[in-house]
Amino acid sequence: MHDRADLLVCGDHVLPMTDGLPVLADAAVAVRGRDIVAVGPRADLERAHPGADRISGGIVLPGLVNTHGHAAMTVYRGLMDDVPLHEWLVKYVWPAEKRFTSPENVALGTELAVAEMFASGTTTFADMYFFENEVGRVCAEAGMRVLLGQAVLAFETPDAPSADASIETGAALAAKYGGHPLVSVSLALHAVYTVPPEKLRKGAAMAAKWDVPIQIHVSESRREVADCVAAHGVTPPRLLADTGVLRKGTICAHGVHLTEEDRALIRDAGAGVSLNPESNLKLGSGVPDIAALLASGMRLGLGTDGAASNNDLDLWDAVRLAALLPKGRDEDPTAVPAREAVRLATRGGAELLSMGDRIGTLEAGKRADLCVVDTSSPHMTPLFDPYAHLAYGTRGSDVVHTVVDGRVVYRDRRHATIDAAAVAARVRALAPRIAESAGLRGPARR
Ligand SMILES: [Zn+2]
Repeated sequence: MHDRADLLVCGDHVLPMTDGLPVLADAAVAVRGRDIVAVGPRADLERAHPGADRISGGIVLPGLVNTHGHAAMTVYRGLMDDVPLHEWLVKYVWPAEKRFTSPENVALGTELAVAEMFASGTTTFADMYFFENEVGRVCAEAGMRVLLGQAVLAFETPDAPSADASIETGAALAAKYGGHPLVSVSLALHAVYTVPPEKLRKGAAMAAKWDVPIQIHVSESRREVADCVAAHGVTPPRLLADTGVLRKGTICAHGVHLTEEDRALIRDAGAGVSLNPESNLKLGSGVPDIAALLASGMRLGLGTDGAASNNDLDLWDAVRLAALLPKGRDEDPTAVPAREAVRLATRGGAELLSMGDRIGTLEAGKRADLCVVDTSSPHMTPLFDPYAHLAYGTRGSDVVHTVVDGRVVYRDRRHATIDAAAVAARVRALAPRIAESAGLRGPARR
């Protein structure tokens, strides 16, 4: 039989995240090669595919899509906390990056990030960093889906002397990974305060030429917006619209301080916002108006941001905050229901990254990217509504299996493609030198 599945993923509840957000009880997802071939009643699919490998658990849903971050920054996790964004960047992060951001350390930090993301159900992430070729290599080997983003800044960076050189690197990445099953490419213009308008314009033209999305930090802090208005007379989204950066598929990270006009500009351009509420809280940047962003109808996804400002890559925290913050902010318990928050982390993120044709829902013809959440533990008992558990009770460690592109990369809470313990040991060995260079004490020994 030519359509015989080689993998069956069974769940007490399967959430395909298709229109209407249905809940399928006692169901399964049949996978052949990279693709989903059927979603339906467990008994029917077991009968139709008797020889298939089988994994199962409480809730099966599309893999989480982490729409903003800097994966390799796991090596700077907890380096410096409880200081403002500007001081954090200028005094600690940029000096540490200058010294330690090498191809080897980017590969190492990315491996640690991928291990952490697989173990919490993330199957795709958008990255913005340096030596992105290493990020692509690590992800291809580990079996992670990624949107690379070569970072462009107007000053010397760890991997380039100038913005023009970074854009050249972006061109090489776009050429190298065109058509790759797991690795896609974007151009990451860092922000309006680090990339001048003429380079924004050039980057936008190049991204259009290569037909890749743009990633950029937008209106993350009040200071960023005030400085932009003082320097250019307009808000960051208006400046991005004027320079061509705000176009179809552009991913605006943060969007904490947006006006109604800003939101309309982003929506009308076919762009969207990656919400990173945990990073915003930690850096004291503010609370994004998630209800207003949703109401605008723009593309919206969730992100963790880098591990140095979160401090973990568990996207379930972002799901919970996306459901809770609007309720507190607006004093309205009906704002952003649980299922909407889960949709943002899966289908919303896939659409934000312009991957909605391949991933984000569980239906025949899409790539098999999914995760399975255990619901047998005390904090998940009893279960009336799986969406409520996912939004309000689930943490990364509840994920038992993760599948990317049809490959089981995490099975029964064990990594199949990464030696996570060895990677962690190598990062621990590097940490004292990082601390010393930042003028800090080394991490506690263990
Ligand atoms: Zn960021």
